[in-house]
Amino acid sequence: MTATAFTFDNSYARDLEGFYVPWQPAVAPEPRLVFLNRPLAEELALPIASMDDAALAATFTGNALPEGAQPIAQVYAGHQFGGFSPRLGDGRALLVGEVIDRHGRRRDIAFKGSGRTPFARNGDGKAAVGPMLREVLIGEAMHALGIPTTRALAVAATGAPVARDEMLPGAVLTRVAASHIRVGTFQYFATSGEEGDVRKLAEYTIARHDPELAGSPRPFLALLDAVSQRQAALIAQWMNVGFIHGVMNTDNMALSGETIDYGPCAFMEAYDPATVFSSIDQYGRYAYRNQPDIALWNLTRFAEALLPLIDDDPEQAVAMVTEVLNAFAGRYRTHLLRGQRAKLGLVRGEPADDASDAALAEDWLAVLHAGKVDFTLGWRRLADAAAGSDSPLRALFADPRAPEDWLVRWRARCTSEDSGKPEVGSGRAEAMRRVNPIVIPRNHRVEEALAAASDEGDLAPFERLLDAVRRPFDEALAASPYAEPAPVEVTARYQTFCGT
Ligand code: AMP
Ligand code: MG
Repeated sequence: MTATAFTFDNSYARDLEGFYVPWQPAVAPEPRLVFLNRPLAEELALPIASMDDAALAATFTGNALPEGAQPIAQVYAGHQFGGFSPRLGDGRALLVGEVIDRHGRRRDIAFKGSGRTPFARNGDGKAAVGPMLREVLIGEAMHALGIPTTRALAVAATGAPVARDEMLPGAVLTRVAASHIRVGTFQYFATSGEEGDVRKLAEYTIARHDPELAGSPRPFLALLDAVSQRQAALIAQWMNVGFIHGVMNTDNMALSGETIDYGPCAFMEAYDPATVFSSIDQYGRYAYRNQPDIALWNLTRFAEALLPLIDDDPEQAVAMVTEVLNAFAGRYRTHLLRGQRAKLGLVRGEPADDASDAALAEDWLAVLHAGKVDFTLGWRRLADAAAGSDSPLRALFADPRAPEDWLVRWRARCTSEDSGKPEVGSGRAEAMRRVNPIVIPRNHRVEEALAAASDEGDLAPFERLLDAVRRPFDEALAASPYAEPAPVEVTARYQTFCGT
C-alpha cells in the first residue's frame, strides 16, 4: 500500500537525541477504522480526504505510516501514587511525528496501543477498543467544554485480541497533543542524566511552549512560573465541571497545560468533594478535592528537577522556586473564582467582592452536598432560576425548600450587580447556560456506549453520545437522556479501571 504524506516537522526527534528510542509500531493483522475525527484532521491540514477506509485503517494502526513519520518511544520517569519510578517511558505508545496546524501551532501525533517498546516492562503494549473510545469521548467532551486537552484523531481496531480480565478487541488510538513533555520527562533526566540534559529539555520546552521567556533573565524560573500558571488554570476548570482525573501521577501532567491520559477519569454526579472513582486509588490520593494540592505536589517535583538550572547557589535556587510554588494556591483560587462567578451569573468581579463571592460559591456547593444534588444539574438549573423559574432547581432536592436561604442571598448579589444596569440582568440566564453544561459524558452512558461498541461492534450509541458531548451547552439537549444523572445506586457502585 502506498503511504500518504503528512507534512511532518519532527523537532523532538531532531533536537533531543538520546531522549527517546526510535521504534516501529507492531503490525495489525486486520486493520479496521472505528473512529475518525474529521474536524480535527482538517484543523491539522492532514491530506486524508482522498483516502478510503482501508487506507485510513492502515495508516491509523501503523501498518502504513505516512511518509515523513519518524516513530519514537519517549523516555520519562514518574511518581505514581507518590512512589518514584525512575524509568517509565512510552511502553505502548509512539510519537509518530509533529505537524504544524492551520493556526500555526505545533501538534504531536502519537499512537497508543501500537505494541511493546523497550519501555514496556511487563505490559503487552496493547490497548482495547473500549478504553480508546473512552479517551475519544472524554477528550472531545473536555474540548467542547473549553478545557485544554489532548484529543483523539482516530481509533483503528487491529484485529488482534487483547488479554485483560477477558479477551477484548485490540485497537490503536491516534492522539494529538500540544506536546508529550511531562513533569516525569524532567524527572527522568534530573535523576539519571546529566545536568546538561535537563537544560536541553528545558530549553526545548521553552522554545516550544513559552518562546517569549527565552530572553528573560531567569528563563527556567520563568518556565516554572508559566507551567504553574497553566496548571492553576487547568485544575480550576476541572473543578468547575466536576472532572476527576483519577491518576494525576507526575508522568500524567503535561507541561503544555493540557489534560492528558484519560484512564480511570470520570465526572462527578451527586456533589461530594471526597469522590474517587478509580479502583486503584485505595486511599483517595486523587479524590476530587485533592486535585489542586496534587497539582502543586507535582509542580514541586518539577521545581526540584529544575533547581540546578535556576541558580548556582542552592539556597538561592530553593528560595526562588519556593516563592513561585507558594503563589500556586492563590492563583488557583483566582481561576476558580473567575469560573465560579461566571457560573453564578456574576459579571462584575471587583476585588472587594472576592471574599464574599467565594463564600457564596462555597455555600452553594455546601447546599448541593447536603442535598446530594447532581453537580452538573445543580449549576445548570440555577440558570432557570435566573430566568425566573425556580421549580426545576427545587425539584433536584428531596426538600424543595432546601436551597431557599441561599437563593435569597444569590438574588441579592445579582441585584447588586444590576443596579442601574438592567441589561446585565436580562442576559444572565443565557450567559449562565454558556458556562454551565447540560451534558457531560455521564459514566453510565459512557459504559453503555463502550459496551455496545466493544461487545457487539455496534457504534451507534457511541456516535450518539459523542454528538451530545460535543454540544454540552445546547439547551435542546435538556430533555435528552444524556442530561440525566444515573440512578444513585449505579453511581455509588461506579468504579473506573486503570491499566487499560
Ligand atoms: P499510564 O497509567 O497509562 O499513564 O501508564 C503508565 C506507564 O505504564 C507508562 O510508562 C506506560 O507506557 C506503561 N503502560 C501502561 N499500559 C501498558 C501496556 N499495556 N503495555 C506496556 N506499557 C504500558
Ligand atoms: Mg500515562
